Amino acid sequence: MRNRYYSEPLYRPPSEARSMIIQVTEGCSHNKCRFCYMYKSKQFRLKSKEELKDHIEWLKTMYTNPRRIFLADGNVLCLKTDKILELLEYIKKEFPHTERISSYSGPLDLVKKSEEELKAIREAGLELLYMGVESGSDKVLSMMNKGVNQEQMIEAGQKAVKAGFKFSCMIISGLGGTQYMEEHALESAKVISAIDPHYFSLLRLVVDENSELAEDLRKGKFHLLTPRQVLDENIIMLENMELTDCIFRANHVSNHVNQAGTLNRDKDILVSRLKELRNSPDFMPRVFNRI
Ligand code: SF4
Repeated sequence: MRNRYYSEPLYRPPSEARSMIIQVTEGCSHNKCRFCYMYKSKQFRLKSKEELKDHIEWLKTMYTNPRRIFLADGNVLCLKTDKILELLEYIKKEFPHTERISSYSGPLDLVKKSEEELKAIREAGLELLYMGVESGSDKVLSMMNKGVNQEQMIEAGQKAVKAGFKFSCMIISGLGGTQYMEEHALESAKVISAIDPHYFSLLRLVVDENSELAEDLRKGKFHLLTPRQVLDENIIMLENMELTDCIFRANHVSNHVNQAGTLNRDKDILVSRLKELRNSPDFMPRVFNRI
């Protein structure tokens, strides 16, 4: 049965599996990335104040004391700052014992906000932001129509970290295809190192048959990496990353092999394990594909 308070599909990061979700906006204001199918069925819109109050009233009947709250959909920070502050104040009044509020953050939304605005949002209670960097390479970002370049991606991430947010970045392994494999690995390492986030996750490209990238694949314009090439790319990426104290995870269903550690501390161990697997004749990648 459809729930009138949520427009589906509804997405949240794996680490928000137990969070209460308040859907503040619907869809993604960009919605043009060639690999992304998440919000293709939705027209982007901001929910009205009345809708949000109604939504929160309903949530209060379901949750008495949510520890964690996630604000959906794709880029809540596109709201004007005063609206975000008002919303956070309202959420904290209605759920006073909440320990963490988080949301996705679009890089251009972060770039457009001043340092003072971001600090005010952080101080008002939004604590953790997730940003899909996808790739650090300008060539790959442009090929995938991400609408942001490397410089803007770094600026966005650095501003968020400086404003005091806990910051989580995500890269999609294989997004450069065979053509830009090395470039994708090196430039992504460069961007993540420049941001130096608190969390870094590495997913693997899984092409949805309804995405524009599937069309590129069918026309032979894009070539997927083999599992061993994915490991080669991961090795280059990790070897070139310089991070202070970053929790690293590659344990999504899309990943061929699970990886977890703290970077840079565990870099050498992670890299040597990948090299060992990559060179093993018994290497059995976990494979999850949509087409
Ligand atoms: S990847 Fe992010 S920015 Fe791109 S269309 Fe999907 S949700 Fe929007």
